[in-house]
Amino acid sequence: MGRAFVYVIVGGGVAAGYAAHEFVKRGVSQGELCIISEEPVAPYERPALSKGYLLPEAPARLPSFHCCVGTHEERLAPKWYKEHGIELILGTRVKSADVRRKTLLTATGETISYKYLIVATGARYMLLLLLCNFSHFLMYENVQVILELVVWLPWTKFNFDCIRPGQVDIIKRPKLVNVMQSCTGGNAVVIGGGYIGMECAASLVINKLNVTMVTAVNLRDGNKLPADMVVIGIGIRPNTSLFEGQLTMEKGGIKVNGKMQSSNSSVYAIGDVAAFPVKVVGETRRLEHVDSARKSARHAVAAIKEPEKTGEFDYLPFFYSRVFTLSWQFYGDNAGEVVHFGDFSGNTFGAYWIHKGQLVGSFLEGGTKEQYEAIAQATRLKPKVEDLTELERLGVEFALSVSEKAPSPRPTEVGGGSGVILEKPLYAWHAAAGVIVAASVAAFAYWYGRRRRRW
Ligand SMILES: Cc1cc2nc3c(=O)[nH]c(=O)nc-3n(C[C@H](O)[C@H](O)[C@H](O)COP(=O)(O)OP(=O)(O)OC[C@H]3O[C@@H](n4cnc5c(N)ncnc54)[C@H](O)[C@@H]3O)c2cc1C
Repeated sequence: MGRAFVYVIVGGGVAAGYAAHEFVKRGVSQGELCIISEEPVAPYERPALSKGYLLPEAPARLPSFHCCVGTHEERLAPKWYKEHGIELILGTRVKSADVRRKTLLTATGETISYKYLIVATGARYMLLLLLCNFSHFLMYENVQVILELVVWLPWTKFNFDCIRPGQVDIIKRPKLVNVMQSCTGGNAVVIGGGYIGMECAASLVINKLNVTMVTAVNLRDGNKLPADMVVIGIGIRPNTSLFEGQLTMEKGGIKVNGKMQSSNSSVYAIGDVAAFPVKVVGETRRLEHVDSARKSARHAVAAIKEPEKTGEFDYLPFFYSRVFTLSWQFYGDNAGEVVHFGDFSGNTFGAYWIHKGQLVGSFLEGGTKEQYEAIAQATRLKPKVEDLTELERLGVEFALSVSEKAPSPRPTEVGGGSGVILEKPLYAWHAAAGVIVAASVAAFAYWYGRRRRRW
């Protein structure tokens, strides 16, 4: 048994939602487009899961954060797909793909054929490594291990797995929210100090848990940390397995050109799984951020629908995060020498990255809309920087003056406002914890400068 569509999107996350929206904007007929997703719900804004979703009061819940609320556009609830004649095949995993025959085989045994395929399979959390590293931790009674934030929705099959001492298998456990609530006043350990770990730590504090953040290295040294719950956020791996040996891979993802088109001209890749040429840094990158997922999705659809009118994707890497009352944005590349500026004990501080005498990356904490636009524009313009001491003294003023002098300011792409509407009021009683996190943010900014990462 099989069905045929003109356009098929495999994966039902952020990129899929934005791609569907773009298809509708550009015109798609009834029954032409289909989305196949392993998740049982329509595409939603994933950043909400480590922010508004975890708040103890008035937490964000679906349908409030379906795509495309992250960019203040319409909310695509299941009804929207129906109204636009888009087939949503939910709760269905694609088991295999044959790009030569242009077919997909689902776990339910259905063969789906396409004219154009958009791969939006995102990434999966790192699990095996994590379990190995974690084994001695199981000595504690009732340690609850929550596996990666990607699966923080209550209905996902991986939900909150729990490992009990002496057991090697994983037993399904209640939702993270239930776990947090049952541990109120207890101790939580967050493994992994990236942005997700930090956002999660903030949410746990808001839920009245005492939080310790550690890295895997700490765990190996024999230290024992009291823990009622443990959250692990140690990174992800792109879901490329359906296409291994069929499409060209690079940087761990599916290699695409500036039109998001893979080595097979009928197959496009978007979001976390796509490795695309990032013009501003002059190399192919795979980005794991929501803004890139949204924009690469829109670009791929434009390239499919209007190939002659669509140029190369010219994306300025952008990333944002929020913890407590703190929020920051990062643009460009964290390569070269880092120059910190501002008052690290105050509200506004940041960092610039200078590579080969040019500004290539900017980070700003606590900026205004105008300042964020300025650092975005300055980073894209890559001005020459000769005096690092002067740059440090000028701080954000440097970016403001560069953007003011810019001959023809291009429309800035400041983050798309992602997540803003999902944020809820924060709590005064966590001010002290906020200060601790502020210190972490400063360390985070410093760390950016020390370590070259994928962006
Ligand atoms: C908790 C959390 C918080 C985040 N916060 C931020 C943030 O603050 N700022 C930021 O910039 N970024 C953030 N991100 C990252 C951002 O959300 C991702 O970059 C973005 O979701 C990538 O979109 P995507 O569509 O490529 O992948 P995803 O949104 O992960 O979607 C992938 C989809 O593919 C489906 N799928 C995979 N394989 C198959 C298959 N074989 N068959 C069928 N379906 C399949 C999955 O079920 C899923 O629906 C966060 C991510 C998480 C998990």
